[in-house]
Amino acid sequence: MRFVFGPVASRRFGLSLGVDLSPERKRCNYDCLYCELGGAKPIAVFDNPAPPSEIVREVKSALETCKPDKLTITANGEPTLYPYLDELIDDLNAIKGSAKLTILSNGSAIGVPSVAKALAKLDIVKLSLDAAEMKSFRKVDRPEKSWSDLGEQIESMARFRARYKGELAIEILLVKGANDTEANFAALAAALKKIAPDRVDIGSIERPSAYRVQAASIETMRSLLDRLAGLNAQIIPSAYAAAKQSLDKEALLALLNRRSLSFDEAAAILDDRSIALLNALVANGLVAIKTQSDKRFYALEVIGSK
Ligand code: SF4
Repeated sequence: MRFVFGPVASRRFGLSLGVDLSPERKRCNYDCLYCELGGAKPIAVFDNPAPPSEIVREVKSALETCKPDKLTITANGEPTLYPYLDELIDDLNAIKGSAKLTILSNGSAIGVPSVAKALAKLDIVKLSLDAAEMKSFRKVDRPEKSWSDLGEQIESMARFRARYKGELAIEILLVKGANDTEANFAALAAALKKIAPDRVDIGSIERPSAYRVQAASIETMRSLLDRLAGLNAQIIPSAYAAAKQSLDKEALLALLNRRSLSFDEAAAILDDRSIALLNALVANGLVAIKTQSDKRFYALEVIGSK
């Protein structure tokens, strides 16, 4: 198969079959510091695109033996640069069955009417927004020269949200020393309130990247998360994988004093000893277990009544 890869199973997203629109080489209008595809000069035009019929034929054949939860359009680069995206989405919608048609995009073209119209036909749209402040944006995403205006891009995301009926997720990847400033966090919080996506995922570098850069710490990610109250925001669990913490009783109580901790997050960030300690605090009545929207949390509310 040339365009289809996977399926890839994940606990969070189920079974996803990938559709890569640029299998031979990277074609992107950004050159992000953290890109896992390696560095490459950003481009404005997708040259030599494969016809949609060729891609659809492969997807059809893969769907004969696999029933994925998601059919994910991606690229070695930026899929919205693909010039026949609208036609391709129509064709994939016709054959996807029960799979949710999804796209992973850097969000740069959301202000282009034809792209927004095509993306509106998808079940899930995931856009990147690593920065809402120009200095950080240029540092981390390094767009192609003709790329225009970050403010307009954010407005376009908000306009898209207003008319899009599917699930809109925004992904933010933080790079140490590039987009981890207070100024950017404040700008991101304001932008995301305006966009009002269904979900915000915060992460950092997890695999070898194009340039010599370092991942943001869990504390830095948490500091952004703290600014996004009222939004359905989370640190992606894989970002925790390399950084499980061992916390003593005081540190656990201090953490819960700042905010409640979901069971999922606790399992992702704490080692077994800390989880056991947390459950002992529950048994002692110092920590409560609360439920909200079917999610269970450790919370500190009973402190003071004991
Ligand atoms: S937008 Fe994606 S593909 Fe393009 S440079 Fe950034 S990480 Fe790489």
